[in-house]
Amino acid sequence: MSKISFYQGVEKCFDKAASLMNHPKGLLEQIKSCNSILQMRFPVRIRGEYQTIEAYRVQHSHHRMPTKGGIRYSMAVEQDEIMALASLMTYKCAIVNVPFGGAKGGIKINPKDYTEEEMERITRRYTTELIKKNFIGPALDVPAPDYGTSSREMAWILDTYMTFHPDKIDGYGCVTGKPISQGGIQGRKEATGRGVLFGLNEVCNYAEDMKAIGLTPGLDGKRVVVQGLGNVGYHAAKFMQEAGCIIVALAEYEGAIYNDKGLDVDAVVAHRTATKSILGYPEATDFVNSHDALEYDCDILIPAALEHVITQENAAHIKAKIIGEAANGPIAYEAEDILLDKGVMIIPDMYLNAGGVTVSYFEWLKNLSHVRFGRMEKRFHENTFSDMIKSIENITGKSFDANEKSMLMHGPDEIDLVNSGLEDSMISAYQEIRDTWKSTNIKDLRTAAFYNSINKIADAYYAMGIFP
Ligand code: NAD
Repeated sequence: MSKISFYQGVEKCFDKAASLMNHPKGLLEQIKSCNSILQMRFPVRIRGEYQTIEAYRVQHSHHRMPTKGGIRYSMAVEQDEIMALASLMTYKCAIVNVPFGGAKGGIKINPKDYTEEEMERITRRYTTELIKKNFIGPALDVPAPDYGTSSREMAWILDTYMTFHPDKIDGYGCVTGKPISQGGIQGRKEATGRGVLFGLNEVCNYAEDMKAIGLTPGLDGKRVVVQGLGNVGYHAAKFMQEAGCIIVALAEYEGAIYNDKGLDVDAVVAHRTATKSILGYPEATDFVNSHDALEYDCDILIPAALEHVITQENAAHIKAKIIGEAANGPIAYEAEDILLDKGVMIIPDMYLNAGGVTVSYFEWLKNLSHVRFGRMEKRFHENTFSDMIKSIENITGKSFDANEKSMLMHGPDEIDLVNSGLEDSMISAYQEIRDTWKSTNIKDLRTAAFYNSINKIADAYYAMGIFP
């Protein structure tokens, strides 16, 4: 159990990076603090009885508008947690050059305790509270899915918002992660997991960094453990497997399994869906305790569930050479130095799970432009490519076969553009962080990421003329 709260931990990481910089003290204080905090208690009628629901929305930074961040449903929700998550969103957006301030919301419920109809009632009431306080809108604050929520909740939020604002022409941009039929974008659901793949692939491409931790370059053959098989964990595990990694262990809240030769992620998920448990998968051995999976021998550990799963109690037992923080805040502040002293390379959450907000940004742009990406140019590109192929065939006297032609003529669909935009964002953001890491005395990637982030936000304040 960490003595330093999640929010205090984020503040301490900020202070560590800020102490290396020359920005005015007042500016650093402004960047660090949460700008607006909405704490709610509202009644919802559940099976004939009124329940008072506890909920939050925190807007950490208004230096860029709208603010942006997910909404989570969990019994662990509390103000400190949402403040920490909102802060991380600000730094995350700056890292991947997404022009938003950070925010986060949460409702303190266990979704498993409610029927779908009750979940809808709670979500719609929460949205109404946000509307009442001007805490939602395409130019103000734009929620998205997070732990315990999905496109289903985003559709309810959108519908509630549009009921109150039927004449808002850009109203669909009030929330992202929506179903495709409701103004969502291809690739958003998988975006965070895909971003984890792009990020870790880039990390592992640097031969000198891999050599320093005793690994060979590239993802192929890397032994990977993933904790949490929800949206982020499932997609990250699946994409890592497809990239040639060996998924040696998987952990869920009810238990964990391992197989040194590798687990098939989709087969494990099918087994869990059928039996309601990850345990008992025929081609694996069960761990006694789900948390033991974190300490299993591997190259890359990907915690993708909740915060503070690696603490001062288990940090010394972690065997992974790389920890890829797919979840927000999986490493408690006190555990960080233990891991760094052991030589573990920590790929920080504010970078590695930024794929979700990056594609949410694309969705918001799509909603504001009212046109699907690729609609205007796909056919034009295909015609141009076709003309080029014909010219090449005429000049060379040789013909491409049907497969080659279809590959060369393919004009970009929405999903192609989203995935290439995501890949580019993840690669360039890592290069920026790594450049800072290598060109300063900073010893770890988290501090380097904070350093870059603070500089970018400070520049935005300077440009506004607020801090000369
Ligand atoms: P999710 O609700 O889809 O999945 C979380 C999974 O973790 C669930 O299957 C749950 O059973 C499992 N879990 C909970 N406690 C566990 C434990 N102790 N051990 C093993 N498994 C456990 O949530 P998600 O959207 O995948 O979010 C996971 C993490 O990723 C959170 O920290 C979230 O803030 C972060 N994140 C999510 C997104 C996104 O786009 N959804 C984006 C960025 C960051």
